[in-house]
Amino acid sequence: MDRKTQIVIVGGGAGGLELAARLGARFGRKRHDIILVERNGTHIWKPLLHEVAAGSLDANLDEVGYRSHGHRWGYRFFQGTLDGIDRAARRITVAPLLDEDGRELIGQHAIRYDYLVLAMGSVSNDFGTPGVRDHCLFLDDRAGADRFRQILLNHCLRVSRARSEDPESDARVRVAIVGGGATGVELAAELFNAAAALRHYGLEVFDESRLEVTLIEAGPRILPALPERLAEAAQAELEALGVTVRTGIPVTAASAEGILLAGGETVPADLKVWAAGVKGAPPGGGLDGLEINRNGQCVVRPTLQATRDDRILAIGDCAACLLPGSDRPVPPRAQAAHQMAATAYGNLVRLMGGRAPRAFVYRDHGSLVSLSRFSTVGSLMGNLVGGRMAIEGRLARFVYTSLYRMHLIAIHGWIRGLALIAIGRVHAVVRPRLKLH
Ligand SMILES: Cc1cc2nc3c(=O)[nH]c(=O)nc-3n(C[C@H](O)[C@H](O)[C@H](O)COP(=O)(O)OP(=O)(O)OC[C@H]3O[C@@H](n4cnc5c(N)ncnc54)[C@H](O)[C@@H]3O)c2cc1C
Repeated sequence: MDRKTQIVIVGGGAGGLELAARLGARFGRKRHDIILVERNGTHIWKPLLHEVAAGSLDANLDEVGYRSHGHRWGYRFFQGTLDGIDRAARRITVAPLLDEDGRELIGQHAIRYDYLVLAMGSVSNDFGTPGVRDHCLFLDDRAGADRFRQILLNHCLRVSRARSEDPESDARVRVAIVGGGATGVELAAELFNAAAALRHYGLEVFDESRLEVTLIEAGPRILPALPERLAEAAQAELEALGVTVRTGIPVTAASAEGILLAGGETVPADLKVWAAGVKGAPPGGGLDGLEINRNGQCVVRPTLQATRDDRILAIGDCAACLLPGSDRPVPPRAQAAHQMAATAYGNLVRLMGGRAPRAFVYRDHGSLVSLSRFSTVGSLMGNLVGGRMAIEGRLARFVYTSLYRMHLIAIHGWIRGLALIAIGRVHAVVRPRLKLH
């Protein structure tokens, strides 16, 4: 009997999960095995992590269990972390899976592939800045967001306690966020949304005036991906909320006390968040000679195939894809991962049918930044608006939430996706505004 064609996808995030669902739905299990290897048991769409961190989104409600999702869509799920690739044998090695106490649940194992898709995303890039790994928090995954929320809540409780014992107390929760890109800006605004809600949940003496948030950006302005006018509007909105925005100041180190700036000043902080750029995170055992750039990403051709291996594709944040006519690689964004998943799907179908793969075309639909319930700003690009159009307010909010809705429809199909969107709206009304545990 012929062996089944095995397509292995590593990483079930914004790109990988969409690809696994499409391939599973198309090929099922008769003559193919679509295998998703992912280190976590559940998926949460990464752009929601700042809301999880602030407590304004309960990730338990929005997460997707890979096992049940795989059962429904016809792919197999292996929980584990990619450790290495053997290209000659067309095999990947998955590291042993450990339980919470460090005991081995599943030993190291190998999975063969006919085609391999790397969709492992990215991690925060600390650029080797001293003290950052030890003293800063990162919004790289659900665990990091949960950790941030727990520490934030503990500090809020401390401040609330100090103020109820001494109403004159000037105790505050001090948060320093490094990086004035979308993640840092969105987190800063979301924190004020959460702080305002805390007084409804037993912290009567706590409100947003007890929050001291400093956003630090080395570049000349925040939100470099947006037009200057919108970045200025976003900065004005943040400052109106109470955020101190410091631009043009590089960070030299992080310590237990706070963030050290060039020139010697320290921004004191109880919570320090690093959101100043991302890099690829190749597995410990390496990628067996695949081309990797200085940023740790796998270099791919426009077809999304690795430069040194036709059977290996990379999509999303972990791929370095420079398209003809462009001087910059495709940016690490959810919309790029979504579009690359569609191209990878088409190319795998073509490759298996003996046809030539097609080049990826990146359609930049613009950038949108949510300032929580206070505002949304951004710019739309492309055919829809005939160029670049700045948008703010309700329209921007609508387009911003549409990105997540598209992801839900891509991974659940139209009927279930639309039902989940409707349920999400009901939850927004009937559930508590904050997750406090
Ligand atoms: C707070 C925040 C807000 C954002 N907002 C936006 C936004 O508004 N718009 C936008 O376009 N983008 C936004 N982004 C960026 C966006 O989230 C990423 O570009 C997108 O998620 C990349 O998709 P991906 O599939 O490449 O990786 P991911 O979605 O990160 O998925 C990677 C998956 O691979 C798994 N994995 C990693 N390594 C291994 C391994 N060795 N073995 C097995 N599994 C592994 C991970 O657990 C993860 O599930 C935001 C990011 C953050 C952090």
